[in-house]
Amino acid sequence: MPQFRFACFAIALPIRRVFDYRIEADDPAVVGTRYRLPFSSGVKTGVLLDTNGASELDPERIKPVQERLDHEAVLGEHILALARWMSEYYLQPLGEVVFQCLPGYLRGARPHQPVRVKRWCLVNSDPTLTAELEPRSPRQFEICQALLQQPSGLTAIELKQVNTNWHPVVKALEAKQIVRWEWAEKPAGRAPAEELPELSSEQQRSLTEIEPRLHRFAVHLLDGITGSGKTEIYLRLIQQHLEDGMQVIYLVPEIGLTNQLIERVESRFGDCFVISHSGLTDFQRYQAWDRFRRGEVSIMLGTRSSLFSQSEKLGLIIIDEEHDHSYRQEDGVRYHARDVAIKRAQMLDIPIILGSATPSLESISNCERDTYFRYRLDQRPTRFPPPPIQLIDVRNNRLEFGCAAQTFAHVERHLAQSGQVLIYLNRRGFAPIVMCHECGWQSLCQNCDARLTLHQSVQTLLCHHCGFAQRIPEVCPDCGHNEVKHYGIGTEQLELGLTQRYPDTPVLRIDRDVIASREALKSRLQQLQTGEPCILIGTQMIAKGHDYPAITLSVVLDADQALFSASYRASERLAQTLFQVSGRSGRGDREGEAILQTRFTDHPLMQALVRQDYRQIANDLLQERRLLGFPPYARVIIFRADAIELKAALGKLEEIRTLLETASRFDSLSCVGPMPALMTRRIGRYRAQLCLVSQDYQTLRSVLQQSMPAIEQLGSSARVSWSIDVDAYDL
Ligand code: ADP
Ligand code: ZN
Ligand code: ZN
Repeated sequence: MPQFRFACFAIALPIRRVFDYRIEADDPAVVGTRYRLPFSSGVKTGVLLDTNGASELDPERIKPVQERLDHEAVLGEHILALARWMSEYYLQPLGEVVFQCLPGYLRGARPHQPVRVKRWCLVNSDPTLTAELEPRSPRQFEICQALLQQPSGLTAIELKQVNTNWHPVVKALEAKQIVRWEWAEKPAGRAPAEELPELSSEQQRSLTEIEPRLHRFAVHLLDGITGSGKTEIYLRLIQQHLEDGMQVIYLVPEIGLTNQLIERVESRFGDCFVISHSGLTDFQRYQAWDRFRRGEVSIMLGTRSSLFSQSEKLGLIIIDEEHDHSYRQEDGVRYHARDVAIKRAQMLDIPIILGSATPSLESISNCERDTYFRYRLDQRPTRFPPPPIQLIDVRNNRLEFGCAAQTFAHVERHLAQSGQVLIYLNRRGFAPIVMCHECGWQSLCQNCDARLTLHQSVQTLLCHHCGFAQRIPEVCPDCGHNEVKHYGIGTEQLELGLTQRYPDTPVLRIDRDVIASREALKSRLQQLQTGEPCILIGTQMIAKGHDYPAITLSVVLDADQALFSASYRASERLAQTLFQVSGRSGRGDREGEAILQTRFTDHPLMQALVRQDYRQIANDLLQERRLLGFPPYARVIIFRADAIELKAALGKLEEIRTLLETASRFDSLSCVGPMPALMTRRIGRYRAQLCLVSQDYQTLRSVLQQSMPAIEQLGSSARVSWSIDVDAYDL
């Protein structure tokens, strides 16, 4: 009998390989458990991938593992298979991907100690058996009486209410085999606590069409305007799965996980769900993950990384606001949660539901190619349709803190009719530009190719990219002129202007400078719920998710910049945001309106917005992407490098390009660069990119597969590091 076995481990390192160690023959060696492993001069945590990987290696040269951390797998076979797929598809190191799939709490050496609750109950519930105890052991009798009343058993906390010194008494009863304990499991799912709304005919039709397709893998896109009742459809589908004893993962964008949604899920399904988002501690997220994993709850309602929640009986995945950019992780392991979720559903042969008022161009084109099922919802089941959008031409118009006279007139009319007004301005701070009129000096960041934003309340100029801050200069640092001026409007200035103009109306601002936490956002939004007239100013933070019935007017102040952005996705993103913002109004029992200030009233995007025709915009944009050969008609893979000198970043990419060209015998590969990134300097480092675009995905992949081993040999260092971005969002 050999004393050892060999096992291979994933370790979170930016190296594309796995590591072999020796384990004792009697170690259970369960795939998906964590071990502490000696690694160079230190110790690292690794996840066991399999046990027969290293047989041909010299046993003497392979180190033994140091310690096993888990008794049961923290990553199931299925999640490991998904991790392998991600690693291959996104060309990311397997070790890093595997650790990405673990809850943050378990990525180090912390033990996996599920907090389970015990429940004690009577072995036999015949009252005559316990009656004998009364004269001799009154305390045992008392506890048995309490247990008799509660056939499902009592937890430690409940027993303590019967007798503060319950433990020895219960131990004695256990010894007599009168009482036993079991793990307290939560019932999975419960009957709807509320009366369900009657479905609209559109909702009913979509459900009727989806239902026969639920027994196997398919992607279903609910393409329905804001407030058309998509969430209601998700809830009905969840209900069905819970009744069948299945679990459901329900993903929402970070800012979409509102209290309203949580309350809605709670009132429908009671406490059989957990939530997970970045506002929770690692430990809280781990607990949610573990309760779901053990089947104690049936629904995981969470943001991006909740996708990796383990489940033995996953029956459905829902991705709300599937177009949302927060589903893409842009640092560390780059992936798109929607796309990985689709893969997961396919591997498990279960259905996945995507929903959006403004579907991504990728999803629309997949519907057109008949790979997704699409269901349209064009009406709101509530009284009022989405508000008409009116353009306000701001050319030759004097603006006061960013607002035109006509805009004020609208705001005043709505306030006078006791409506609430939402003003969207996606720029925080007081003013985005600070400059000298004499010599043209501008306040630029010393670490980034970016302007510093004026923040009046803290009297500083601040970089929104690296956090660099400096005091507002009193005179021009270049020419000494005694006046530096600011231009443009941010939310801080808008708030000040509106407060002065409407002293009797509450003005609430929501942006990252004033709202530091989910709790702060919650309390700020509670002020809206009184329904009193007020003005709400906000950035991206307010654009989606929230459903505030008293808002009757939404205003978009300045969207023009994005029309001419260099990013090929800017128009899509802009259209999505504008529809989302305008869709915030008129959701209650009062009709809404939406206005948008622009200099480009004739722009096709603006015109389609007036017609409330997202599909037209999407079709136009798809046409454009087809002509340009951009996604979804091509695949984009970008090598990114950053270094302390631009030359080094470009040089590294030049080497990568050479290796790619060696591997490529194909002409269909178009390789752009190396060239400096759009924002070349960021947080003190120079950034460059090498972009591969191809309509022929198979070729692109085979070139990469051939050249990656050599490219990896190039290595990364602090001086110059590189990464690869598959299906890159921004060029
Ligand atoms: P979406 O997810 O498409 O934005 P929701 O499901 O949140 O839409 O529905 C918008 C509003 O309409 C919510 O307040 C919801 O309670 C209500 N609602 C949804 N379906 C119905 C229905 N069939 N009858 C009445 N009200 C409904
Ligand atoms: Zn000057
Ligand atoms: Zn900066």
